[in-house]
Amino acid sequence: MAKKTETKLDFGSKWDYSSAPESAGHAEIKKEYGLYINGKFVKAEDGKKFASISPSTDEHIAYFAEASDKDVDKAVKAARKAYNEVWGPMAPKERAKYIFRIARLIQERAREFAVLESIDGGKPIRESRDVDVPIAANHFFYYAGWADKLEYAFPGKTAKPVGVAGQIIPWNFPLLMAAWKLAPALACGNTVVLKPAETTPLTAMKLAELIHDSGLPAGVVNIVTGAGATGAAIVNHPDVDKVAFTGSTGVGKIIQKAIAGTNKTATLELGGKAANIIFDDAPIDQAVEGIINGIFFNQGHVCCAGSRLFVQENVKDIVIKKLKDRLSTLIVGDPMDKNTDVGAINSKEQLDTINKYLKIGVEEGAEIYQPNCTLPKKGNWCKPTLFLEASQSHRIVQEEIFGPVLTVQTFRTIDEVIDKANNTPFGLSAGVWTDKGSKIFNLTTKLRAGVIWANTFNKFDPTSPFGGYKESGYGREGGLQGLSPYVKLS
Ligand code: NAP
Ligand code: MG
Repeated sequence: MAKKTETKLDFGSKWDYSSAPESAGHAEIKKEYGLYINGKFVKAEDGKKFASISPSTDEHIAYFAEASDKDVDKAVKAARKAYNEVWGPMAPKERAKYIFRIARLIQERAREFAVLESIDGGKPIRESRDVDVPIAANHFFYYAGWADKLEYAFPGKTAKPVGVAGQIIPWNFPLLMAAWKLAPALACGNTVVLKPAETTPLTAMKLAELIHDSGLPAGVVNIVTGAGATGAAIVNHPDVDKVAFTGSTGVGKIIQKAIAGTNKTATLELGGKAANIIFDDAPIDQAVEGIINGIFFNQGHVCCAGSRLFVQENVKDIVIKKLKDRLSTLIVGDPMDKNTDVGAINSKEQLDTINKYLKIGVEEGAEIYQPNCTLPKKGNWCKPTLFLEASQSHRIVQEEIFGPVLTVQTFRTIDEVIDKANNTPFGLSAGVWTDKGSKIFNLTTKLRAGVIWANTFNKFDPTSPFGGYKESGYGREGGLQGLSPYVKLS
């Protein structure tokens, strides 16, 4: 008789993986980048520049031109001229060809974009490689397809472009946000002045090079780097017809005030504080993985991150145990390592904000849990953090932290969790984990959030509209709905 052998598996301790660094050798980084205006790379008029720093190593990456009002004016003039003379009059099917070409070039250069995104922004290479870059290419593909079919998107109406769009994006998905903004604007026949965030200008300027190589006519897309003042110059320029902004609710409010009383239209994609809700009938292991994915991957730098967890009370103990176990196996560190789950915090300022909230959470009386992991010495790092026993009135539950921090609360009934989930100023996204379709449909009609995922989280697709309720902003990006802000219908 065969002897029974017992294999002991120790799942309690973290497995050691050999490092698997992505090679950066093929990625070209210039010493200095200019502004992309009217099809040319030019210095800022007053010669000002700023540096981008790697958040994972503190190393200097490159210098970028800092655009002033004068440079923004040049960019808007170039966009207006291209709109009047080239892009506006061009046959839609010809415009589509350029947009398709941009999509294909992103796919061809995907590895380089992924590497640069991780170097400049600090996000794990797995995320940039598998999420940011492919979805960015898909947005261009998707909207290229719409360019000559607008009469089907808006049946019975004539869709005309709006004109010159001023687009301002944040640092958490630099290339992807540029794609979300540019693709529908171009497909509808608009020209653009786009500004990336100060801390993540690298892939936007790479995209400018790619757009240049695609042969897109001069002035159709202009990319200007700089800080908040550059963004304000775009918003306040009298010849910008439409403002598209993704960023904080605070800046969104400033923009709304700035354009009040003008003819400018705006879409605002702002902050979030998503509820992720686990019912006792949910597949607990999948739910825990989804919760972890929803907040810790990409360091919680996701506007729709599932930052508030609501667990049905009778499964609280098992869910918290599994969350803690999973947290202790997350690999925090070098974004360029393919094993890394949690990368660097994007900037010192953002790390200060997160640390401020960690302190506030403890002072408010929530119970903090962090795994016992070692953080790299250089760069900006934060351990994945749970706040147990959090309550509705806590600031860590009400305010957007934008870091790898998850608050945990419990509930007994559906009505209770709906009340709690809706009780924030935000309404961008939410998640529901349950075996019952009826519960999903009930909740999706009552949760005040623009996107609700069921038994999954943080899934993006160019065909699905995305956007918020309440202080999470207005207007939709993605899908058929994402065309509307870029057309005038008659
Ligand atoms: P932010 O400070 O609002 O910055 C967003 C962009 O606006 C940046 O390019 C920024 O420039 C620029 N900006 C700053 N002040 C401005 C002004 N007065 N006028 C015009 N533009 C101005 O936000 P962030 O810290 O970069 O990003 C984090 C926030 O974005 C979070 O609240 C997050 O929830 C939100 N977000 C929302 C979505 C969504 O789809 N709803 C997606 C991603 C992020 P500089 O950075 O160069 O100063
Ligand atoms: Mg940077």
